[in-house]
Amino acid sequence: MSDSKQQNVQEFEYKAEMKQLLNLIVHSLYTHPEIFLRELISNSSDALSKVRFSQLTENIAEGDVEELKITITLDEKTRSFAIEDNGTGMSEEELIANLGTVAKSGTLGFLQALKEQQPDKSGIDANLIGQFGVGFYSVFMVTDEVTVETKSEDSQGCRWRSTGEGTYTIEKIDRQQRGTKISFTLKEDAAEFAGENRVENIIRKYSNFVDFPIQLDNKKVNSVIALWQQQKSEIKKEEANEFYKFIAVDYQDPLDYLHLSLEGVVNFKALLFLPKEAPMDMLYQQGALENHGPQLYVRKVMIQHECKDLLPEYLRFVKGVVETEDLSLNVSREVVQNSPVMAKIRQILTTKIIAWFESLAQDDPEKFRQFYKAFGPVIKIGLNTDFTNREKLIELLRFESTKTGDGEYVTLKEYVSRMQEGQKEVYYLSGDNRQQMLSNPNMEYFRKQDIEVLLLVDPVDVFVIPSIHEYDKKPLKSIEKADIDFSAGEDEKKDALNENMIEPVLRIFKETLADKVEDVVESHRLVNSPVTLVGGKDTMDPQIEKMLKMMNQADAQGKKILEVNPSHPVIKNLAGLCMLNDNDPFIRTAINQLYEGALLLEGSLEGRADFISRMNDIIEAATRQAKS
Ligand code: ADP
Repeated sequence: MSDSKQQNVQEFEYKAEMKQLLNLIVHSLYTHPEIFLRELISNSSDALSKVRFSQLTENIAEGDVEELKITITLDEKTRSFAIEDNGTGMSEEELIANLGTVAKSGTLGFLQALKEQQPDKSGIDANLIGQFGVGFYSVFMVTDEVTVETKSEDSQGCRWRSTGEGTYTIEKIDRQQRGTKISFTLKEDAAEFAGENRVENIIRKYSNFVDFPIQLDNKKVNSVIALWQQQKSEIKKEEANEFYKFIAVDYQDPLDYLHLSLEGVVNFKALLFLPKEAPMDMLYQQGALENHGPQLYVRKVMIQHECKDLLPEYLRFVKGVVETEDLSLNVSREVVQNSPVMAKIRQILTTKIIAWFESLAQDDPEKFRQFYKAFGPVIKIGLNTDFTNREKLIELLRFESTKTGDGEYVTLKEYVSRMQEGQKEVYYLSGDNRQQMLSNPNMEYFRKQDIEVLLLVDPVDVFVIPSIHEYDKKPLKSIEKADIDFSAGEDEKKDALNENMIEPVLRIFKETLADKVEDVVESHRLVNSPVTLVGGKDTMDPQIEKMLKMMNQADAQGKKILEVNPSHPVIKNLAGLCMLNDNDPFIRTAINQLYEGALLLEGSLEGRADFISRMNDIIEAATRQAKS
């Protein structure tokens, strides 16, 4: 704080991070500067909600309640813009805390995201500002200096002023009216925002469903309707879509919506939406959904923006509004959280939402496919957390398989219904991508026998699927595990090496690979490949192992069993070489190469140089042979 320039006016300096943030906002190009208006209206609306809430809880008589509203005044000639609300307002301390410092972690996230976005000629996507909760400052996209006049119920009025360049000033003023007025002169290149039509359109676009009337030069512009309170048949799809875009701050229409009106043990109305896409961080970041949820209204008053208690975590990507008459406005958040009413609403919502997914799957498979693609990984969380609905969630699961096309799905039910005669298990393989899995040697037997194998491409599957254990009494089994029943292929082994001939080969494999593998055994599953690696009964799925390695948690668990194909020419040739001279160093070179080749296919070969130099040795030997 420096000495005051004028009597009564104090100058304050922004903190370092704040300067950095403002500098970016002031000096960058933006793709949608218009969103400053959405941010200011949303702040006003929050301040008004707080007043409405306290009026209701303090039981102020209807007649004494002033109308809560937002007023926007424009002047095209002077390019002046003002927005005023009779919300809570701010005291001097609140002004400093709210507009002078970066109290929110959002700011740093915002800076990071801006850096990653690399502002180019097309400008910075101004939507970022809204996402990271640094909304107020977006006003510096359209002006060089902002004045905020504000007064809270019990304090003297204050005027805050800043050019966004490092400092701001505060002075005491004589303001009677509770609330906040933000005013500024628009930059020349932002003159459009002094135009009534332009501003009206922006309000319609972003703020049409704000809960308080917005007056623009004395004309009311927004609708202020509680869409969810209407009859299902009255709600138009376009309206629902617009409402979704407003509450979810999404630029796309929702994939689908659901209107609920329940009367009975508990009474509530809800309007719920499925977004088309999941935000990136929602999928794999733990806890990303923790603090999300629909908006909670109690008797027309918004109580919580994101009410996580309304839904279990695995459904919190569902957006929308839930309104009930059964909760009291006076209760604290903790009581709301633990109230039996809340628990009941949550239980009913969960059932209804799952039924919604089921009917999408039935009636509109393409829509369901789109939904599953976006949120499949999220709803899988429910398998291990919501045991009441587990069976239903299992029915919703979809997998690619060796019998579906790329990006197409099969359900467990369908899989079981088309199983081979005599097949007792459901088979799956996990991997990074479809192509890699299809070329896995462990697949050969299944392909030859025409047995369907589920291809688990979603990284969370390896955690979720084993926990299902069995479906319709058929155990779920990874084809990479060693204890699979291969009886169906027994008669195929006519031209395989007999026991006496394979035994010395296996012995040399074991000697050569020593403690790199747990064991070397004769294979019954291979058709076209000479060798393959499989897990023992108790080893981890290779995908889980890879993930643990990435998290630096790999341990000694990883030893595999090498299976050797007694029908393969390479193995037969090796058996011949063993009979001639089992000290021939070439045999060991070949064995190491086969082993590392199997690692390579699995995606777990680490040093490639040895592999390549050994391969060159082998090619050299082969070309020498061919020459002579
Ligand atoms: P956010 O709205 O995401 O919290 P902002 O930077 O937009 O971030 O606003 C910072 C804070 O300033 C708000 O949280 C609020 O406390 C206060 N504020 C902004 N505008 C108003 C207003 N019109 N009335 C009362 N308080 C406001």
